[in-house]
Amino acid sequence: MTILEELERIVGRENVSGDPAITAAYSRDQHWTFVPPKNPAFVVRPGTKEEIRDVLMLANREKTPVIPWSTGINIRGMTIPTQDGSIMLDVSRLNRIVELNPEMMTATIQPGVTFGMLVEASKKHGLRPAFPDAPLTVSAVTNNYLRGIYQTSPRDGLDHILSFEIILPNGETLQTGSRLLKRDLPYFRYGPGPEIASLFIGGPGTWGVVTELTLKLYRIFEHQKIYYVGFDDLEKPIDLIDRVNREELVSSCRFVDTIHWLPPYLGTFDYEYETLPEFVVAMVVENQDRIFQAQDQIVQSYIAKSGGKILDLPQDLADNLKCEMLGAETSPMIFGFKGNFYCVGYYGPLNLLPKYYQDFKENALKIGFDAKDISFYANTIARFHGQSTYYELEIYFDSSDRKSVEMLRTLHARTVTNLLETGIYGWFRPYAGVIEPTLERIGNFTEYWKKLQNLIDPNGIMNPGKVF
Ligand SMILES: Cc1cc2nc3c(=O)[nH]c(=O)nc-3n(C[C@H](O)[C@H](O)[C@H](O)COP(=O)(O)OP(=O)(O)OC[C@H]3O[C@@H](n4cnc5c(N)ncnc54)[C@H](O)[C@@H]3O)c2cc1C
Repeated sequence: MTILEELERIVGRENVSGDPAITAAYSRDQHWTFVPPKNPAFVVRPGTKEEIRDVLMLANREKTPVIPWSTGINIRGMTIPTQDGSIMLDVSRLNRIVELNPEMMTATIQPGVTFGMLVEASKKHGLRPAFPDAPLTVSAVTNNYLRGIYQTSPRDGLDHILSFEIILPNGETLQTGSRLLKRDLPYFRYGPGPEIASLFIGGPGTWGVVTELTLKLYRIFEHQKIYYVGFDDLEKPIDLIDRVNREELVSSCRFVDTIHWLPPYLGTFDYEYETLPEFVVAMVVENQDRIFQAQDQIVQSYIAKSGGKILDLPQDLADNLKCEMLGAETSPMIFGFKGNFYCVGYYGPLNLLPKYYQDFKENALKIGFDAKDISFYANTIARFHGQSTYYELEIYFDSSDRKSVEMLRTLHARTVTNLLETGIYGWFRPYAGVIEPTLERIGNFTEYWKKLQNLIDPNGIMNPGKVF
Protein backbone atom coordinates (compact mmCIF):
# COMPACT_ATOMS: atom_id res chain seq x y z
CA MET A 1 0.00 0.00 0.00
CA THR A 2 1.16 3.55 -0.66
CA ILE A 3 1.29 6.07 2.20
CA LEU A 4 -1.81 7.74 0.79
CA GLU A 5 -3.73 4.45 0.81
CA GLU A 6 -2.64 3.70 4.35
CA LEU A 7 -3.70 7.16 5.48
CA GLU A 8 -7.08 6.70 3.79
CA ARG A 9 -7.48 3.39 5.59
CA ILE A 10 -6.79 5.06 8.96
CA VAL A 11 -8.88 8.25 8.72
CA GLY A 12 -11.25 7.56 5.80
CA ARG A 13 -10.88 8.89 2.25
CA GLU A 14 -12.79 12.08 3.01
CA ASN A 15 -10.24 13.07 5.65
CA VAL A 16 -7.02 12.87 3.69
CA SER A 17 -5.80 14.71 0.64
CA GLY A 18 -2.66 14.93 -1.45
CA ASP A 19 -4.22 17.40 -3.85
CA PRO A 20 -1.92 20.45 -4.18
CA ALA A 21 -5.00 22.68 -4.29
CA ILE A 22 -5.76 21.56 -0.71
CA THR A 23 -2.21 21.14 0.60
CA ALA A 24 -1.24 24.63 -0.64
CA ALA A 25 -3.47 26.10 2.06
CA TYR A 26 -1.00 24.68 4.62
CA SER A 27 2.17 25.86 2.89
CA ARG A 28 2.78 29.30 4.38
CA ASP A 29 1.72 31.83 6.95
CA GLN A 30 1.13 35.48 6.52
CA HIS A 31 3.59 36.96 8.96
CA TRP A 32 6.86 35.16 8.95
CA THR A 33 8.92 35.65 5.81
CA PHE A 34 11.92 33.71 7.06
CA VAL A 35 10.61 30.22 6.31
CA PRO A 36 9.96 29.64 2.59
CA PRO A 37 6.52 28.26 1.68
CA LYS A 38 6.27 24.53 1.04
CA ASN A 39 3.32 22.25 0.44
CA PRO A 40 2.97 19.18 2.64
CA ALA A 41 2.55 15.97 0.64
CA PHE A 42 -0.65 15.08 2.53
CA VAL A 43 -3.13 16.75 4.79
CA VAL A 44 -4.76 14.32 7.22
CA ARG A 45 -7.68 15.10 9.50
CA PRO A 46 -8.08 12.39 12.15
CA GLY A 47 -11.27 12.39 14.23
CA THR A 48 -10.08 10.28 17.20
CA LYS A 49 -7.02 9.75 19.36
CA GLU A 50 -6.69 6.22 17.97
CA GLU A 51 -6.47 7.63 14.45
CA ILE A 52 -3.77 10.10 15.57
CA ARG A 53 -1.86 7.21 17.11
CA ASP A 54 -2.12 5.13 13.92
CA VAL A 55 -0.97 8.01 11.70
CA LEU A 56 2.04 8.57 13.98
CA MET A 57 2.93 4.88 13.96
CA LEU A 58 2.73 4.80 10.17
CA ALA A 59 4.89 7.92 9.88
CA ASN A 60 7.39 6.52 12.37
CA ARG A 61 7.65 3.25 10.46
CA GLU A 62 8.08 5.06 7.13
CA LYS A 63 10.28 7.82 8.63
CA THR A 64 7.95 10.42 7.19
CA PRO A 65 7.92 13.92 8.74
CA VAL A 66 4.74 14.84 10.64
CA ILE A 67 3.60 18.35 11.45
CA PRO A 68 0.91 18.62 14.11
CA TRP A 69 -1.56 21.39 13.29
CA SER A 70 -4.32 22.55 15.62
CA THR A 71 -5.83 25.74 14.29
CA GLY A 72 -2.99 26.93 12.08
CA ILE A 73 -3.15 30.53 13.25
CA ASN A 74 0.58 30.23 13.82
CA ILE A 75 2.45 33.35 12.87
CA ARG A 76 6.06 32.21 12.96
CA GLY A 77 6.33 29.58 10.29
CA MET A 78 6.01 26.79 12.81
CA THR A 79 3.73 24.60 10.73
CA ILE A 80 5.44 25.21 7.39
CA PRO A 81 7.03 21.93 6.23
CA THR A 82 10.79 21.97 5.82
CA GLN A 83 11.08 18.58 4.07
CA ASP A 84 9.55 16.83 1.09
CA GLY A 85 6.82 14.27 1.65
CA SER A 86 5.54 15.66 4.99
CA ILE A 87 2.20 14.77 6.55
CA MET A 88 0.24 17.72 7.91
CA LEU A 89 -1.65 16.27 10.85
CA ASP A 90 -4.63 18.55 11.30
CA VAL A 91 -6.19 17.63 14.66
CA SER A 92 -8.83 20.36 14.70
CA ARG A 93 -11.65 17.80 14.57
CA LEU A 94 -10.84 16.93 18.18
CA ASN A 95 -12.65 19.95 19.51
CA ARG A 96 -14.39 18.88 22.72
CA ILE A 97 -14.33 20.58 26.09
CA VAL A 98 -13.93 17.28 27.90
CA GLU A 99 -14.65 18.71 31.32
CA LEU A 100 -15.24 22.11 32.84
CA ASN A 101 -15.09 21.89 36.61
CA PRO A 102 -16.19 25.20 38.21
CA GLU A 103 -15.60 23.94 41.73
CA MET A 104 -11.99 22.98 41.03
CA MET A 105 -11.58 25.84 38.54
CA THR A 106 -10.19 23.62 35.79
CA ALA A 107 -10.95 22.85 32.17
CA THR A 108 -9.83 19.78 30.24
CA ILE A 109 -9.83 20.44 26.52
CA GLN A 110 -8.86 18.97 23.18
CA PRO A 111 -6.64 20.78 20.64
CA GLY A 112 -9.46 21.96 18.37
CA VAL A 113 -11.04 23.98 21.21
CA THR A 114 -10.48 27.67 20.50
CA PHE A 115 -10.15 30.42 23.08
CA GLY A 116 -13.52 31.70 21.88
CA MET A 117 -15.16 28.40 22.82
CA LEU A 118 -13.39 28.16 26.17
CA VAL A 119 -14.08 31.79 27.12
CA GLU A 120 -17.81 31.35 26.41
CA ALA A 121 -18.06 28.09 28.32
CA SER A 122 -16.17 29.31 31.40
CA LYS A 123 -17.95 32.67 31.51
CA LYS A 124 -21.17 30.87 32.44
CA HIS A 125 -19.47 29.97 35.73
CA GLY A 126 -17.94 33.40 36.40
CA LEU A 127 -14.56 32.10 35.26
CA ARG A 128 -12.12 32.72 32.43
CA PRO A 129 -9.01 31.04 31.06
CA ALA A 130 -5.72 32.92 31.03
CA PHE A 131 -6.02 34.73 27.77
CA PRO A 132 -3.34 35.82 25.30
CA ASP A 133 -3.54 38.63 22.87
CA ALA A 134 -4.31 36.20 20.12
CA PRO A 135 -7.38 35.97 17.94
CA LEU A 136 -10.23 34.06 19.58
CA THR A 137 -9.86 31.44 16.84
CA VAL A 138 -6.56 30.15 18.25
CA SER A 139 -6.31 26.68 19.80
CA ALA A 140 -6.12 27.08 23.58
CA VAL A 141 -4.17 23.82 23.85
CA THR A 142 -1.49 24.86 21.40
CA ASN A 143 -1.15 28.33 22.75
CA ASN A 144 -0.63 27.09 26.30
CA TYR A 145 1.59 24.25 25.26
CA LEU A 146 3.76 26.65 23.27
CA ARG A 147 4.10 28.91 26.30
CA GLY A 148 1.95 31.42 24.54
CA ILE A 149 0.14 32.74 27.54
CA TYR A 150 1.96 35.79 28.61
CA GLN A 151 -0.07 38.82 27.85
CA THR A 152 -2.90 38.65 30.24
CA SER A 153 -2.60 38.97 33.90
CA PRO A 154 0.52 39.05 36.04
CA ARG A 155 -1.97 38.29 38.79
CA ASP A 156 -2.59 34.84 37.23
CA GLY A 157 1.12 34.19 36.78
CA LEU A 158 2.62 32.06 34.03
CA ASP A 159 1.81 28.45 34.74
CA HIS A 160 -1.66 27.53 33.67
CA ILE A 161 -1.15 23.90 32.70
CA LEU A 162 -2.06 21.19 35.19
CA SER A 163 -1.62 18.09 33.09
CA PHE A 164 -0.92 16.78 29.62
CA GLU A 165 -1.98 13.92 27.48
CA ILE A 166 0.41 13.50 24.59
CA ILE A 167 0.78 10.79 21.95
CA LEU A 168 4.44 10.11 21.28
CA PRO A 169 5.89 9.30 17.84
CA ASN A 170 5.95 5.56 18.67
CA GLY A 171 2.18 5.64 19.28
CA GLU A 172 2.33 5.46 23.06
CA THR A 173 0.18 7.82 25.11
CA LEU A 174 1.84 9.67 27.97
CA GLN A 175 -0.07 11.39 30.76
CA THR A 176 1.48 13.73 33.30
CA GLY A 177 0.83 14.85 36.88
CA SER A 178 -1.79 13.48 39.24
CA ARG A 179 -3.95 12.09 36.47
CA LEU A 180 -1.47 9.20 36.35
CA LEU A 181 -2.77 7.90 39.67
CA LYS A 182 -6.47 8.58 39.51
CA ARG A 183 -8.12 10.10 36.52
CA ASP A 184 -11.39 11.13 38.17
CA LEU A 185 -9.87 13.25 40.93
CA PRO A 186 -9.27 16.94 40.39
CA TYR A 187 -5.87 17.59 38.87
CA PHE A 188 -2.57 18.47 40.42
CA ARG A 189 0.47 19.22 38.30
CA TYR A 190 2.99 17.38 40.48
CA GLY A 191 2.25 13.67 40.35
CA PRO A 192 4.49 10.78 41.31
CA GLY A 193 8.09 11.21 40.23
CA PRO A 194 9.68 14.04 38.28
CA GLU A 195 7.45 16.77 36.89
CA ILE A 196 7.72 16.30 33.15
CA ALA A 197 4.89 18.49 31.87
CA SER A 198 7.37 21.35 31.72
CA LEU A 199 9.58 19.29 29.46
CA PHE A 200 6.96 19.41 26.75
CA ILE A 201 6.14 23.09 27.07
CA GLY A 202 7.80 25.19 24.41
CA GLY A 203 8.56 22.39 21.92
CA PRO A 204 6.77 23.42 18.72
CA GLY A 205 5.28 20.08 17.66
CA THR A 206 8.59 18.31 18.18
CA TRP A 207 7.78 15.88 21.02
CA GLY A 208 4.49 14.33 19.96
CA VAL A 209 0.86 15.34 19.56
CA VAL A 210 -0.96 16.86 22.50
CA THR A 211 -4.47 15.45 22.62
CA GLU A 212 -5.65 16.86 25.96
CA LEU A 213 -4.63 19.57 28.34
CA THR A 214 -6.03 20.41 31.74
CA LEU A 215 -5.80 24.11 32.45
CA LYS A 216 -6.43 26.40 35.38
CA LEU A 217 -9.35 28.81 35.17
CA TYR A 218 -9.51 32.15 36.95
CA ARG A 219 -12.19 34.20 38.61
CA ILE A 220 -13.90 37.10 36.85
CA PHE A 221 -14.21 40.07 39.21
CA GLU A 222 -17.24 42.31 39.24
CA HIS A 223 -15.26 45.45 40.00
CA GLN A 224 -12.80 46.39 37.33
CA LYS A 225 -11.34 49.65 36.20
CA ILE A 226 -8.85 50.47 33.48
CA TYR A 227 -6.46 53.41 33.48
CA TYR A 228 -4.63 54.78 30.47
CA VAL A 229 -1.71 56.88 31.60
CA GLY A 230 0.11 58.90 28.97
CA PHE A 231 3.85 59.66 28.99
CA ASP A 232 6.12 61.47 26.61
CA ASP A 233 9.28 59.59 27.43
CA LEU A 234 10.37 56.01 27.82
CA GLU A 235 12.05 56.10 31.21
CA LYS A 236 9.41 57.72 33.40
CA PRO A 237 6.72 55.02 33.23
CA ILE A 238 9.12 52.34 34.47
CA ASP A 239 8.77 53.43 38.11
CA LEU A 240 4.98 53.34 37.96
CA ILE A 241 4.93 49.91 36.31
CA ASP A 242 7.44 48.62 38.80
CA ARG A 243 5.45 49.84 41.80
CA VAL A 244 2.00 48.64 40.82
CA ASN A 245 3.38 45.21 39.99
CA ARG A 246 5.66 44.89 43.00
CA GLU A 247 2.80 45.81 45.31
CA GLU A 248 0.37 43.50 43.50
CA LEU A 249 -2.08 46.28 42.75
CA VAL A 250 -2.97 45.59 39.13
CA SER A 251 -4.15 42.51 37.32
CA SER A 252 -2.81 43.55 33.98
CA CYS A 253 -0.29 46.14 32.89
CA ARG A 254 0.78 46.99 29.39
CA PHE A 255 3.16 49.62 28.03
CA VAL A 256 2.50 50.51 24.40
CA ASP A 257 3.40 53.12 21.86
CA THR A 258 0.26 55.06 21.21
CA ILE A 259 0.08 55.32 17.46
CA HIS A 260 0.67 51.67 16.69
CA TRP A 261 -0.79 49.77 19.55
CA LEU A 262 -3.82 51.66 20.73
CA PRO A 263 -5.81 51.63 17.45
CA PRO A 264 -5.71 47.84 17.07
CA TYR A 265 -6.80 47.35 20.64
CA LEU A 266 -9.32 50.07 20.92
CA GLY A 267 -10.86 48.78 17.74
CA THR A 268 -11.21 51.97 15.71
CA PHE A 269 -9.08 54.19 13.55
CA ASP A 270 -11.64 56.95 13.88
CA TYR A 271 -9.90 58.69 16.77
CA GLU A 272 -7.17 61.27 16.97
CA TYR A 273 -4.49 59.08 18.47
CA GLU A 274 -1.78 61.48 17.32
CA THR A 275 -3.02 64.02 19.87
CA LEU A 276 -2.22 61.62 22.72
CA PRO A 277 1.19 61.35 24.42
CA GLU A 278 3.69 59.08 22.65
CA PHE A 279 3.50 56.21 25.15
CA VAL A 280 0.69 54.80 27.22
CA VAL A 281 0.60 52.53 30.25
CA ALA A 282 -2.70 50.66 30.43
CA MET A 283 -3.49 49.11 33.81
CA VAL A 284 -6.44 47.10 35.03
CA VAL A 285 -7.39 47.24 38.69
CA GLU A 286 -9.82 44.59 39.86
CA ASN A 287 -10.96 42.99 43.07
CA GLN A 288 -14.00 42.64 45.26
CA ASP A 289 -15.93 45.42 46.98
CA ARG A 290 -13.93 47.47 49.44
CA ILE A 291 -10.66 45.76 48.65
CA PHE A 292 -11.14 47.05 45.13
CA GLN A 293 -11.80 50.58 46.37
CA ALA A 294 -8.71 50.62 48.57
CA GLN A 295 -6.56 49.21 45.80
CA ASP A 296 -7.92 51.70 43.33
CA GLN A 297 -7.11 54.63 45.62
CA ILE A 298 -3.52 53.53 46.01
CA VAL A 299 -3.16 53.13 42.24
CA GLN A 300 -4.56 56.62 41.70
CA SER A 301 -2.07 58.08 44.15
CA TYR A 302 0.83 56.35 42.37
CA ILE A 303 -0.38 57.60 39.01
CA ALA A 304 -0.53 61.14 40.39
CA LYS A 305 3.10 60.88 41.51
CA SER A 306 4.31 59.26 38.29
CA GLY A 307 4.43 62.35 36.08
CA GLY A 308 1.97 60.69 33.69
CA LYS A 309 -1.41 61.97 32.65
CA ILE A 310 -4.63 59.96 32.91
CA LEU A 311 -6.18 59.92 29.44
CA ASP A 312 -9.85 60.46 29.08
CA LEU A 313 -10.70 57.95 26.36
CA PRO A 314 -14.31 57.29 25.35
CA GLN A 315 -15.69 54.55 27.59
CA ASP A 316 -16.53 52.07 24.85
CA LEU A 317 -13.00 52.31 23.50
CA ALA A 318 -11.49 52.06 26.94
CA ASP A 319 -13.47 48.91 27.75
CA ASN A 320 -12.22 47.15 24.66
CA LEU A 321 -8.68 46.92 25.90
CA LYS A 322 -9.82 45.70 29.27
CA CYS A 323 -11.40 42.72 27.52
CA GLU A 324 -8.19 42.12 25.63
CA MET A 325 -6.08 42.26 28.72
CA LEU A 326 -8.18 40.09 30.90
CA GLY A 327 -10.94 38.17 29.51
CA ALA A 328 -11.56 38.26 25.85
CA GLU A 329 -14.99 39.04 24.72
CA THR A 330 -13.61 40.84 21.75
CA SER A 331 -10.32 40.45 20.02
CA PRO A 332 -9.87 43.14 17.42
CA MET A 333 -6.23 42.46 16.53
CA ILE A 334 -6.02 44.65 13.47
CA PHE A 335 -2.59 45.19 12.04
CA GLY A 336 -3.66 47.36 9.20
CA PHE A 337 -0.81 49.69 8.52
CA LYS A 338 1.10 48.00 5.73
CA GLY A 339 -0.53 44.64 5.52
CA ASN A 340 2.30 42.64 7.11
CA PHE A 341 3.62 42.61 10.59
CA TYR A 342 7.02 41.45 11.85
CA CYS A 343 7.72 41.06 15.48
CA VAL A 344 10.37 39.49 17.59
CA GLY A 345 8.88 38.38 20.90
CA TYR A 346 10.92 37.58 23.99
CA TYR A 347 11.05 37.77 27.77
CA GLY A 348 13.35 40.02 29.77
CA PRO A 349 13.43 42.23 32.88
CA LEU A 350 11.44 45.47 32.91
CA ASN A 351 14.44 47.69 33.64
CA LEU A 352 15.93 46.98 30.20
CA LEU A 353 12.87 48.30 28.37
CA PRO A 354 14.35 51.64 27.27
CA LYS A 355 17.53 49.99 26.00
CA TYR A 356 15.69 47.26 24.08
CA TYR A 357 13.49 49.77 22.31
CA GLN A 358 16.12 52.43 21.63
CA ASP A 359 18.58 49.91 20.16
CA PHE A 360 15.89 48.43 17.95
CA LYS A 361 14.70 51.79 16.74
CA GLU A 362 18.22 52.99 16.03
CA ASN A 363 19.00 49.85 14.02
CA ALA A 364 15.75 50.01 12.08
CA LEU A 365 16.28 53.67 11.19
CA LYS A 366 19.86 53.00 10.08
CA ILE A 367 18.68 50.19 7.81
CA GLY A 368 16.17 52.55 6.23
CA PHE A 369 12.81 51.88 7.91
CA ASP A 370 10.52 54.81 8.42
CA ALA A 371 9.98 55.86 12.06
CA LYS A 372 6.23 55.48 11.64
CA ASP A 373 6.61 51.76 10.90
CA ILE A 374 8.63 50.98 14.03
CA SER A 375 6.77 49.94 17.11
CA PHE A 376 7.06 48.16 20.44
CA TYR A 377 5.10 46.95 23.38
CA ALA A 378 5.75 45.43 26.79
CA ASN A 379 3.59 43.50 29.19
CA THR A 380 4.42 42.47 32.72
CA ILE A 381 3.68 38.78 32.99
CA ALA A 382 4.12 37.63 36.54
CA ARG A 383 4.16 38.95 40.07
CA PHE A 384 7.40 40.67 40.22
CA HIS A 385 10.06 38.05 40.63
CA GLY A 386 12.73 39.02 38.15
CA GLN A 387 10.48 41.78 36.78
CA SER A 388 9.48 39.30 34.08
CA THR A 389 8.12 41.16 31.12
CA TYR A 390 7.07 40.08 27.67
CA TYR A 391 8.32 42.29 24.83
CA GLU A 392 7.60 42.74 21.17
CA LEU A 393 9.72 44.82 18.83
CA GLU A 394 7.84 45.37 15.62
CA ILE A 395 7.89 46.55 12.05
CA TYR A 396 4.97 47.06 9.70
CA PHE A 397 5.95 46.19 6.18
CA ASP A 398 4.69 45.13 2.80
CA SER A 399 5.79 41.57 2.03
CA SER A 400 5.29 42.07 -1.71
CA ASP A 401 8.05 44.68 -1.65
CA ARG A 402 11.32 42.74 -1.99
CA LYS A 403 13.43 45.61 -0.76
CA SER A 404 11.62 45.89 2.54
CA VAL A 405 11.77 42.11 3.00
CA GLU A 406 15.56 42.26 2.51
CA MET A 407 15.78 45.15 4.95
CA LEU A 408 13.78 43.13 7.41
CA ARG A 409 16.14 40.18 7.15
CA THR A 410 19.08 42.45 7.97
CA LEU A 411 17.20 44.02 10.87
CA HIS A 412 16.13 40.64 12.19
CA ALA A 413 19.69 39.27 12.27
CA ARG A 414 20.98 42.39 14.02
CA THR A 415 18.13 42.45 16.50
CA VAL A 416 18.53 38.83 17.53
CA THR A 417 22.29 39.24 18.07
CA ASN A 418 21.80 42.51 19.85
CA LEU A 419 19.18 41.11 22.21
CA LEU A 420 21.33 38.09 23.05
CA GLU A 421 24.19 40.43 23.85
CA THR A 422 22.08 42.84 25.91
CA GLY A 423 20.51 39.92 27.78
CA ILE A 424 17.06 38.38 27.63
CA TYR A 425 15.41 35.57 29.57
CA GLY A 426 14.30 33.64 26.51
CA TRP A 427 12.41 33.79 23.26
CA PHE A 428 8.64 33.75 23.08
CA ARG A 429 8.96 30.34 21.42
CA PRO A 430 11.87 28.49 19.88
CA TYR A 431 11.35 29.00 16.18
CA ALA A 432 13.41 29.28 13.00
CA GLY A 433 15.15 32.62 12.81
CA VAL A 434 15.83 33.05 16.52
CA ILE A 435 16.82 29.61 17.68
CA GLU A 436 19.92 29.08 15.51
CA PRO A 437 22.15 31.81 17.03
CA THR A 438 20.82 30.91 20.47
CA LEU A 439 21.79 27.24 20.36
CA GLU A 440 25.43 28.26 19.91
CA ARG A 441 25.35 30.16 23.18
CA ILE A 442 23.72 27.76 25.57
CA GLY A 443 26.53 25.23 25.90
CA ASN A 444 25.74 21.64 26.86
CA PHE A 445 22.02 22.47 27.24
CA THR A 446 21.76 22.13 23.46
CA GLU A 447 23.33 18.65 23.57
CA TYR A 448 20.98 17.47 26.32
CA TRP A 449 17.99 18.97 24.54
CA LYS A 450 18.96 17.03 21.40
CA LYS A 451 19.50 13.83 23.39
CA LEU A 452 16.09 14.11 25.02
CA GLN A 453 14.49 14.78 21.68
CA ASN A 454 16.26 11.76 20.16
CA LEU A 455 15.05 9.62 23.02
CA ILE A 456 11.44 10.53 22.35
CA ASP A 457 11.68 10.79 18.58
CA PRO A 458 14.60 8.57 17.44
CA ASN A 459 13.56 8.75 13.77
CA GLY A 460 13.35 12.56 13.83
CA ILE A 461 9.85 12.66 12.33
CA MET A 462 8.26 15.33 14.54
CA ASN A 463 8.14 18.72 12.83
CA PRO A 464 11.79 18.47 11.75
CA GLY A 465 13.58 21.73 11.11
CA LYS A 466 11.68 23.69 13.69
CA VAL A 467 14.33 23.50 16.35
CA PHE A 468 17.17 21.29 15.12
C1 LIG B 1 -2.30 38.54 14.52
C2 LIG B 1 -1.94 37.51 15.54
C3 LIG B 1 -1.48 37.91 16.77
C4 LIG B 1 -1.17 37.00 17.74
N1 LIG B 1 -0.74 37.43 18.95
C5 LIG B 1 -0.50 36.55 19.93
C6 LIG B 1 -0.15 36.97 21.22
O1 LIG B 1 -0.01 38.17 21.44
N2 LIG B 1 0.05 36.05 22.18
C7 LIG B 1 -0.08 34.73 21.93
O2 LIG B 1 0.10 33.93 22.85
N3 LIG B 1 -0.44 34.30 20.75
C8 LIG B 1 -0.64 35.17 19.74
N4 LIG B 1 -1.03 34.73 18.50
C9 LIG B 1 -1.37 33.35 18.31
C10 LIG B 1 -0.26 32.41 18.43
O3 LIG B 1 0.72 32.64 17.49
C11 LIG B 1 -0.91 31.06 18.32
O4 LIG B 1 -1.58 30.79 19.50
C12 LIG B 1 0.08 29.97 18.20
O5 LIG B 1 0.87 30.14 17.07
C13 LIG B 1 -0.59 28.67 18.09
O6 LIG B 1 -1.32 28.73 16.92
P1 LIG B 1 -2.28 27.64 16.56
O7 LIG B 1 -3.15 27.31 17.68
O8 LIG B 1 -2.95 28.03 15.34
O9 LIG B 1 -1.30 26.41 16.33
P2 LIG B 1 -0.68 25.88 15.01
O10 LIG B 1 -0.34 27.02 14.10
O11 LIG B 1 -1.62 24.87 14.53
O12 LIG B 1 0.64 25.23 15.54
C14 LIG B 1 1.71 25.95 16.12
C15 LIG B 1 2.85 25.00 16.51
O13 LIG B 1 2.41 24.02 17.46
C16 LIG B 1 2.49 22.71 16.92
N5 LIG B 1 1.24 22.02 17.28
C17 LIG B 1 -0.01 22.37 16.88
N6 LIG B 1 -0.90 21.55 17.44
C18 LIG B 1 -0.22 20.67 18.19
C19 LIG B 1 -0.60 19.58 19.01
N7 LIG B 1 -1.88 19.22 19.18
N8 LIG B 1 0.37 18.88 19.63
C20 LIG B 1 1.67 19.21 19.47
N9 LIG B 1 2.09 20.23 18.72
C21 LIG B 1 1.15 20.96 18.09
C22 LIG B 1 2.65 22.89 15.44
O14 LIG B 1 3.33 21.83 14.84
C23 LIG B 1 3.42 24.19 15.36
O15 LIG B 1 4.78 23.95 15.59
C24 LIG B 1 -1.33 35.63 17.50
C25 LIG B 1 -1.79 35.18 16.26
C26 LIG B 1 -2.09 36.13 15.27
C27 LIG B 1 -2.60 35.65 13.94
